[in-house]
Amino acid sequence: MRVKTTPLLAGAVVLGELCACAPSPPATAAIPTPVPVPVLTWRSIVPEADGFDWPVGPPDARGYYDAQPFGRNFHLGEDWNGVGGGNTDLGDPVYAIAHGRVSYAEEAGPGWGQIVRVLHRVEHDDGSTTILESLYAHLDAIEVLDGDLVLRGERIGTIGTADGAYAAHLHLELRDSPGSPLAGGYSRHTAGWLSPSDFIRAHRPRVMLGETPGRP
Ligand SMILES: [Zn+2]
Repeated sequence: MRVKTTPLLAGAVVLGELCACAPSPPATAAIPTPVPVPVLTWRSIVPEADGFDWPVGPPDARGYYDAQPFGRNFHLGEDWNGVGGGNTDLGDPVYAIAHGRVSYAEEAGPGWGQIVRVLHRVEHDDGSTTILESLYAHLDAIEVLDGDLVLRGERIGTIGTADGAYAAHLHLELRDSPGSPLAGGYSRHTAGWLSPSDFIRAHRPRVMLGETPGRP
């Protein structure tokens, strides 16, 4: 008596024959060509600054004054106010001091209010690179998003009061230790902070000086 072969068993036999007579192609043939993974560097994610301007009344802060310069009372930044005093500058535009990439744009809590931080790349004549970070605090409104590219002089927010904590002004910091903690705005220890106006004054855009823009 013949035993009926079920379709499943018949299939198994056929598969077995295929395996014996026609082996599968080498496994290596199915491996796709590797795609190079881009390497992230400061150069690739932070645009080069072509120079620096002041963040209010750009390019030279006309119509504004620094009520508390860097270093006075151990201040780690500068307090920019409109010459009209009080809250006359509330809602005035704040501008990026140089080309850069936004690294932070959100509410930072009591005493700080809304903050924008922007990374800038400075290329030196000796081939070295410095990454700086500008910090704009107490903003009434934020007009950029984390990760945005911004140009020198581009609006990033407006002057505010840190949610009513102060008369309206812009607290500006410039740091050479990007990504460092927010800290307290005042300290005897200034390592990691630069005087914004001293740096801006020493790094004006070449076009402002009547030179050809761009690096040689
Ligand atoms: Zn301040």
